[in-house]
Amino acid sequence: MTASGSTSPLYATFARADVAFERGEGCWLIDTRGERWLDFGSGIAVNALGHAHPHLVEALKAQAEKVWHVCNAFRIPEQEQLGARLVAASFADRVFFTNSGAEALECAIKTARRYHFGKGHPERFRVITFEGAFHGRTLATIAAGGQAKYLEGFGPKVEGFDQVPFGDLDALKAAIVPETAAILLEPVQGEGGVRPFDPAFLKAVRALCDEQDLMLIFDEVQTGIGRSGHLYAYEGTGVTPDILASAKGLGGGFPVGACLATERASAAMTAGVHGTTFGGNPLAMAVGNAVLDVILADGFLDRVKAASLRLKQALGQVIDHHPTVFAEVRGEGLLLGLKCLKPLPEVAAAFRGQHLLTIGAGDNVMRLLPPLIVSDEEIQDAVRRIDRAAAQLEAAATDTAPKKTA
Ligand SMILES: *Cc1c(COP(=O)(O)O)cnc(C)c1O
Repeated sequence: MTASGSTSPLYATFARADVAFERGEGCWLIDTRGERWLDFGSGIAVNALGHAHPHLVEALKAQAEKVWHVCNAFRIPEQEQLGARLVAASFADRVFFTNSGAEALECAIKTARRYHFGKGHPERFRVITFEGAFHGRTLATIAAGGQAKYLEGFGPKVEGFDQVPFGDLDALKAAIVPETAAILLEPVQGEGGVRPFDPAFLKAVRALCDEQDLMLIFDEVQTGIGRSGHLYAYEGTGVTPDILASAKGLGGGFPVGACLATERASAAMTAGVHGTTFGGNPLAMAVGNAVLDVILADGFLDRVKAASLRLKQALGQVIDHHPTVFAEVRGEGLLLGLKCLKPLPEVAAAFRGQHLLTIGAGDNVMRLLPPLIVSDEEIQDAVRRIDRAAAQLEAAATDTAPKKTA
């Protein structure tokens, strides 16, 4: 059921389901036939406040009547305000705004390389990443992610990225060479299958970085902006990065990204060495500020943590009822992964049959990424849909099982 016919004017790069949505309300999307879908994908962790959140709609409209875009040759007060709020709420001292996650990563990688350049070591430019990583689709970020399927056919892999097995400290130590500039990781691998790094491992990585003057870069494009139950997931690990890439939830659906860094890490990012036309424009910043109004309000993140617990517990029961369909639930906050024992496309189809939207990931894991405003009733509703889908998958398996001859 894909709509990638030869008559489409679009690149065939996406295998699209034949559904189009006309509008949304909170955790719900309404398609062009008027049918309602429970959105537990949030456009891949983007719609942190759901659809058509009144505060975001109002902020966007109000800014649209003032000024949409001015270039970064001028001061942009909305950008200074959002930057100051991110700095106040995190480890960072400085922020560079972008339009996407991949661009935030590009800035992070450039910042790490430039740090060593500034210290008289331009030869230190290599970045170590972990198997299963996903950092975006630009030439540098596919090299960082290291996944063959994303690299194939695009010419030589951008130089300077080395990859080691997930969570392997010995391999990491062995991979550090005099040219190494940084270590880059997602505190919880999203696309890789909702795989959290062990906090003890992260502490060891931080210690290595301190000993060898390496920049520690966290890719929090997916884990950030409340998704983990913290503003950024690093807060829950006890480990602080030097540089952090943020995006997805930051604009709540408006394209906004940011690279956050300490003063020390960003000291060599001086006037003219990096730039962007759209990044941090007033319209984007107005929406980003409105997102933070809600996420940073008293009690909001506690509510995310409580919703996470409720969803995890309910999913635990579904797994117990359907041990041939699901193996486990993992992840943090409202970035949860259901490890499936049936082929992911079948699970996706069964969920879609229940009008429940979720996002596939590596390692045969289905991601559940509801808007952070999800209610208890909506959690129960989603769990009932998952339960019904699982029952169907079981029944289908029985139908197709080889018949015993009596
Ligand atoms: C989505 C994602 C990216 C890329 O973000 P884009 O906005 O698609 O460029 C990078 N890193 C992680 C962890 C992501 O989840």
